[in-house]
Amino acid sequence: MISKANTLPALKYLSAYPEHIQARVSQLIAKNELGPLLAQRYPHKHQVQTDKALYDYVTEIKQEFFRNSAAIAKVAFDSKIKVIQHALGTHTQISRIQGGKLKSKHEIRIASLFKNTAPEFLKMIVTHELAHLKEKDHNKAFYQLCQHIEPNYMQLEFDLRLYLTHQDLNSSSTDNY
Ligand SMILES: [Zn+2]
Repeated sequence: MISKANTLPALKYLSAYPEHIQARVSQLIAKNELGPLLAQRYPHKHQVQTDKALYDYVTEIKQEFFRNSAAIAKVAFDSKIKVIQHALGTHTQISRIQGGKLKSKHEIRIASLFKNTAPEFLKMIVTHELAHLKEKDHNKAFYQLCQHIEPNYMQLEFDLRLYLTHQDLNSSSTDNY
């Protein structure tokens, strides 16, 4: 079945993108082309399945780009993270004064849905959270840093949002999409 454009769900993951982009995505959905497109572009699943493996994966990238930053205290998949807008993962910095010096402890949590995604999407979300080691806000410097770590970052973030959109549509309807 092809849904009329005005009955399509709002593209909440793509709300920050220009209208003509959202219109194109709506067309792909209406023509049942979004799923096949994603499957073709991202055919593989990564093997990082445990918090330990995730810690090693994150640490390896951190060592390459942020060798001088403090070690990350904890890295974990977290099933409680609700995937909305910019909350795909969390990065927390716990600061305290110890012996007259400010000490920081970094923790990175990645939404568990990333356990079952393409390696490119895991790389994208880890890049995002690591970039927060240096830049707290989602500003221009932040995205430049993301692209320094992963040159294809902007495309991957967009495609991840397509993927999340597709997942949402598939879980809310079995027939129409
Ligand atoms: Zn962020």
